[in-house]
Amino acid sequence: MDIKEIRTQRALSRTQIKLADFVINPYRGCEFGCKYCYSRENKNVKKRTEPWGSFLDVKIDAPFVLEKELRFKRPKCIMLGSTTECFQPREEEFKVTRALLEIIKSRNIPVVILTKSNLIEKYVDLLNYNPNNKIYFTFMFQDKAVKDILEKDTPELEKRIKAIKKLIENKIRVKIHVGPFIPFMEDLRKLFQFIPPGIKEVEIEVYNSKMGNFKEIVSLIKERISKEKSAALAKTYSSGKDYNNFCTFLRKEAQKINEDYNFKLNFIVPEFDSWYTDKIKYE
Ligand code: SF4
Repeated sequence: MDIKEIRTQRALSRTQIKLADFVINPYRGCEFGCKYCYSRENKNVKKRTEPWGSFLDVKIDAPFVLEKELRFKRPKCIMLGSTTECFQPREEEFKVTRALLEIIKSRNIPVVILTKSNLIEKYVDLLNYNPNNKIYFTFMFQDKAVKDILEKDTPELEKRIKAIKKLIENKIRVKIHVGPFIPFMEDLRKLFQFIPPGIKEVEIEVYNSKMGNFKEIVSLIKERISKEKSAALAKTYSSGKDYNNFCTFLRKEAQKINEDYNFKLNFIVPEFDSWYTDKIKYE
């Protein structure tokens, strides 16, 4: 892993994602290196040409820059981590996310955080200050064999469950994020059984092949999981009609499974073969 401490010109960036008006990414790159990660398509991330998952730029002065920016910017809500994982292992060493959260908490600005890391459980004292704070916790791959191929370095489901329970105990809102949902790679019925008590909201975000390293994913599945599943995945994304049929099927299937749970269920369905736009409806 190539790790560099870098200086940043800007901490707060405007975001099109409707969950917040500003986003902060404390790192560029990500130690977890998920095979499907969309962040590799981000123009700032592309400034590094090394393979995704092999580098990490630590924005070491981001807290200092944020302090300065907050003298003239008034965010209504800040999202942490749109192109990186704020709670990746090296956060224990550099503590950039921690320092940012201390500042955000001192101003009582609500935060929205996207994570799949159990390290967040060590941050509850920095997250329970505002009832509007919300954690979108990615929850996938109850089949370890699939996980080892698509995101082998991320925390196991058991560790995520423990962290989610701790957040809930501390009255921090958690929404389960099943995404990107790669067709034929997840058994939703089994996955739902692992969702911890206290969770009320679940969202399912369908995989975007344009952003998600599609060719490598299809080939990895073919070599290491199943030729049939790989062919079925390729077919699903071969035309808008196949893709829309799959999304309709998934929606019905999820709603049927949800009859046993009664979660507030939300779907995020990217348009076929397109980049993300501000039309995407997050809740
Ligand atoms: S944890 Fe998130 S940011 Fe990091 S590689 Fe995986 S999907 Fe990308």
